[in-house]
Amino acid sequence: MYINGEFTTGKSIDRIAIINPATEEIIDDVSRGTPEDVASAVQAAKEAFYEWRRVPANERAAALHEVATKIRSHHDEIVRLITQEEGKPIPENEEELWWVEETFDYYAEIARHERGRVIPPGEQGQFNFIIKEPYGVVGCIVPWNYPLLLLVWKMAAALAAGNTVVIKPSELTPLSTLRLVEVACDHLPPGVVNVVTGYGPEVGEALVMHPKVPVIAFTGSLAVGQHIAKLAGPMMKKLHLELGGKDPMVIAPDVDIATAVSGTAYAALINTGQVCTSTERVYVHESIMPQFSEEIADFVSKLRLGNGLDPETDIGPMIRNKFREKVEGQLSDAVASGAEILVGGSRPSQFAKGFFLEPAVVTKVNHSMDLMREETFGPVIPLMPYKSIDDAIELANDCKYGLGACLMTHD
Ligand code: NAD
Repeated sequence: MYINGEFTTGKSIDRIAIINPATEEIIDDVSRGTPEDVASAVQAAKEAFYEWRRVPANERAAALHEVATKIRSHHDEIVRLITQEEGKPIPENEEELWWVEETFDYYAEIARHERGRVIPPGEQGQFNFIIKEPYGVVGCIVPWNYPLLLLVWKMAAALAAGNTVVIKPSELTPLSTLRLVEVACDHLPPGVVNVVTGYGPEVGEALVMHPKVPVIAFTGSLAVGQHIAKLAGPMMKKLHLELGGKDPMVIAPDVDIATAVSGTAYAALINTGQVCTSTERVYVHESIMPQFSEEIADFVSKLRLGNGLDPETDIGPMIRNKFREKVEGQLSDAVASGAEILVGGSRPSQFAKGFFLEPAVVTKVNHSMDLMREETFGPVIPLMPYKSIDDAIELANDCKYGLGACLMTHD
């Protein structure tokens, strides 16, 4: 862990093994943090806040640009580390890290330019203005699927505004976070950035409940987001919750089919479908359904599964077996209710180890199936025909989640 500018194993002797999902090998282990570790980190962050908030905006901006520069100088090493702990192929992690670097540069500039406002007086003698103030300690709770990007969207913004942070990375992917902090945050005053590793109900919840943490920025599942909202609501905390989704893709009859096929496969299968804004259900105009389904099944069957470190790999493993089993369960339930798997959906025989699942294309689905209602978070493309664009919009909106949506059309 990283508390008050120093690496520490914290109060507990327990460790959490970090597994490479492509090989199932243990690549490292980290401390299993405790609520006492959270308290130490929050105390350090609170003390650092009084100085950090007073650092002139130009200096804070320079410090954040320096974070970006230092990450760039360790780019290849960090890309490799995310690939080993998270599993997605190198080009996708390259992209994640470019975004991470640019995020620090972006918020560095916001730090210099963001300002308040003067408002016309309501009465003679009044002077009204808005001044932006940092909150204090921001708790950043992060999932595993984009361990660094989803961290820095919280962290860079919080630091830019003069807050300090306590980071709780996912217990599945803490290594890249620890390395980023080690190589890129050593010039920041102690306590401005802290990392407490560990499990959600132990460390994450202690952060949510800590009275000196007024803001929680969380990305993760709907269920945990709801739980956090329930805990933090009565404490009147500021919450920033980025949760799950079941994003629709609507394919209009006027598309170029080859473009729509590769675009849909990308939208549904990037990071093995483990993206909050993955396309999770596809509505295809009935006039092109036969050709579209045939071509996308052919396209998907040619994608190469493998270790993300292998440059030939298109699709990596899922992060853990329990998530793969959830996808398999949704698929078998759908098949039991009449769905047809055109391609994929099985564990590939060529790998002795690794949480691989062949990407699937499924037809004959309907909205009574979990596959079309609940977040899948895996490599599955269910196709359902529609008659008119109004039907398609109705189907797209027949969903308890709200997150992203895609439409392919020339119109
Ligand atoms: P998760 O909700 O299981 O865990 C997210 C984080 O919360 C982890 O660090 C975890 O340790 C912590 N946590 C778990 N229980 C907690 C508790 N009781 N109190 C406090 N913290 C707790 O999610 P995950 O499996 O890591 O990530 C996948 C989910 O994240 C998917 O549902 C996906 O859609 C969602 N997600 C959303 C976005 C978005 O921007 N909307 C982006 C990426 C992922």
